[in-house]
Amino acid sequence: MGYGIIDITGERFGRLVVDSFAYTKNNRAYWNCTCDCGTHCVKMGKYLRNGDTKSCGCLNIDRVKEMGLSNIKRNKYEILDDGKTVKVYFNNTDNYFLCDLEDWQPIADMFTWFESEHGYARTSLGYDNKFMFFHSYVLNEFPTRYRVCDHINRNKLDNRKNNLRMTTIQENNINQKTYKNNKSGHVGVYFQSSNGKWVAHIGYKKRIIDCGSYETYEEAVEARKRAELEYFGYIKETGMHSA
Ligand SMILES: [Zn+2]
Repeated sequence: MGYGIIDITGERFGRLVVDSFAYTKNNRAYWNCTCDCGTHCVKMGKYLRNGDTKSCGCLNIDRVKEMGLSNIKRNKYEILDDGKTVKVYFNNTDNYFLCDLEDWQPIADMFTWFESEHGYARTSLGYDNKFMFFHSYVLNEFPTRYRVCDHINRNKLDNRKNNLRMTTIQENNINQKTYKNNKSGHVGVYFQSSNGKWVAHIGYKKRIIDCGSYETYEEAVEARKRAELEYFGYIKETGMHSA
C-alpha cells in the first residue's frame, strides 16, 4: 500500500466487503473486494467511498430483472369490432376501461394500469409515489387546482377522447351537483357544454344508462322521469332546477 492511502480493508460498501489493497493506477487506489453474491472484483477506492460502487454489478442486474418482471404483468386488452376502440382489463380488479386505439398503441407496452380506489384508470410512474391517470395521458394535461379532467358521460372508465375534456373546477362541480340529488338541479340531468344540450341518465344496478340529450332542460327532466318509472317503478321526489 502506497504512502497517503487510507486503509479501508474490512470495510463494507453496499454489497461489497474490501479484502485487501490491490494496486494504484494514475494515483488512485484499487481494492480487492468480495461481493455478497460471491463474486471477487477490484474496485476504485474513490467510488467505493462516495457510494457510486455498491456491488460487483449484480445490483444493476437485479434491478433490470425486477423491471423485466413488471413488464410481464401488462394489461390484457382487446380491440373492439369498430377497429378503433380498445377494452383494457385492469390487473387489480375484474373491471376494464375504454380508450381509443390510437391512444393505446404508443404506450401499450410501457405502463400497467390499475383501477384506483375512486374508480379511475391509473398507473405508477415508478418514482416519488407519482401516479398518472389514463385520462391525463389522453388529454396530455395534468390536473391543477383550477382545471380538472371531466368525463362527459360521467363514466370514469370511458377514456375515449370524445368523452374527455379539461374543465374548470367550477363547471365540474356544477356537473357533479346536478348529478346528485340537491336543490340546484335535477338528479340525473346535466348540461353538456360541449354540444349545448341537456343530458339525462339513470343509474341502475351499478350501470349508468343514457336517456338521451335534449334541447331543453324540461325535456331532459321528463326523460329522466320516464326512466325512473321504467327502472324503479316510481318517480323520485327531487329538487327543482333553480336556473
Ligand atoms: Zn455481486
